[in-house]
Amino acid sequence: MSKLIDPFGRTVSYLRVSVTDRCNYRCTYCMSENMTFLPKSDLLTLEELDRLCSAFIRRGVDKIRLTGGEPLVRRNVMSLFRSLGAHVKKGDLRELTLTTNGSQLAKYAHELADCGVKRINVSLDSLDAKKFESITRWGKLADVLNGLAAAKDAGLEVKINAVALKDFNENEVDEIIAWCGKEGFDLTFIETMPMGEIDEDRTDRYLPLSILKEKIRSKWDLKATSYQTGGPADYFTVQETGKRIGFITPLTHNFCESCNRVRLTCTGKLYMCLGQDDWKDLLAPLRMSESDEALMSAIDEAISRKPKGHDFIIDRPGAAPAVSRHMSVTGG
Ligand code: SAM
Ligand code: SF4
Repeated sequence: MSKLIDPFGRTVSYLRVSVTDRCNYRCTYCMSENMTFLPKSDLLTLEELDRLCSAFIRRGVDKIRLTGGEPLVRRNVMSLFRSLGAHVKKGDLRELTLTTNGSQLAKYAHELADCGVKRINVSLDSLDAKKFESITRWGKLADVLNGLAAAKDAGLEVKINAVALKDFNENEVDEIIAWCGKEGFDLTFIETMPMGEIDEDRTDRYLPLSILKEKIRSKWDLKATSYQTGGPADYFTVQETGKRIGFITPLTHNFCESCNRVRLTCTGKLYMCLGQDDWKDLLAPLRMSESDEALMSAIDEAISRKPKGHDFIIDRPGAAPAVSRHMSVTGG
C-alpha cells in the first residue's frame, strides 16, 4: 500500500494516539483544576483504536506513541499495548512507545516491556517533592520515582520530559541534569505551548529555551549530536554525564520542516498539526463498514490537508491560546 506523503513532500511515518483525555494529575500549565472531560461513551473502543493504528501501519507508519491525558489510567489499556506490540514482534512496527506521568509505572513497567515497548518518556518537572505537588496539583513525587525504578528494572530506556518554567524549575536544571546522568536517563526540556485555557496566564511562566540553553552551557559541556528520534528535539550530549539532553523549541525555533507525524484523539479525530485547529473525522468512516476502504480514503484526504506549520506565539500577555484544545486532547 502507498505511503502517506503530504503536499510538502514530507512522509508521515509517526502516529501519536491520545487514548484518553483524562488524567489523575492536573499540571498547572496543562489543565485547569476543574476540567470537563469527554463522556466515556464518546470514546473509541480499544479494539477500534487498534484497527485505526493497524490501518496507519499498513500505510507505512512505523512508530506509534500512546499518550493522553494519562494513557495508563485508561481501563484495560494494556490490551491495546499487547495488540500493537504484536506488530512490533512481527516487524511491521519499528517502535511502540508512550508518554506518561509515571504514576502508574510501578504497576505496568514490566508488562509494557513484555509487550515490546523499549523506550518511554516520563514527564517530571521537579525533583523537589513539594514543588512537584504544586505543579501537578494532585501528584506525589514518590510514586513517579518508584515507577522509574520499576522501568529501569524492566530494562526500559527512559527519557525525562521537563517543561521549562520561569520561577519554578529554572534554578533546578543543574540538579535535574546531574540526576538524569546518575540514573542513566536522557532528558528533554520543553517550552510551554499556548494550548487550552488554564487557571493562569502562561506568559508569566514562559521561559525561552534559548535562554535556558545558554545557562546550561555555562555550566555543562554540551556537544552537538546528529541524534534523531523522529521527534522535534535538538539533541546534545552532556560530556560530564554521557547522557543526551534535548530542547523542544516550538516557539523560539520552528521545527515544522521535518514534521513526520499526525495525531489521533480518543474520539477518532485526526489532527494533522499540533498547533492548528483543522482535523479530519476518522470515526464515521471507521464505523461505516468492516472494510477499511472508506477509512483509507479519509486518511489520504487528511494527509492532503497537512499544513506547512503552526503559528504559536506566546509573548502577547493575556492573549488567548493559539489553539483552544488542551495538550491532553491530542497528547504531547
Ligand atoms: N500525561 C502524560 C504526561 O504528562 O507525560 C502524557 C500527556 S502530556 C499532555 C504530554 C507532555 O505534554 C508532557 O510532557 C507535558 O509536560 C507536556 N505538556 C502539557 N501541556 C503542555 C503545554 N501547554 N506546553 C508544553 N508542554 C505541555
Ligand atoms: Fe496529566 Fe500529563 Fe497534562 Fe500533567 S501534563 S495534567 S500528567 S496530561
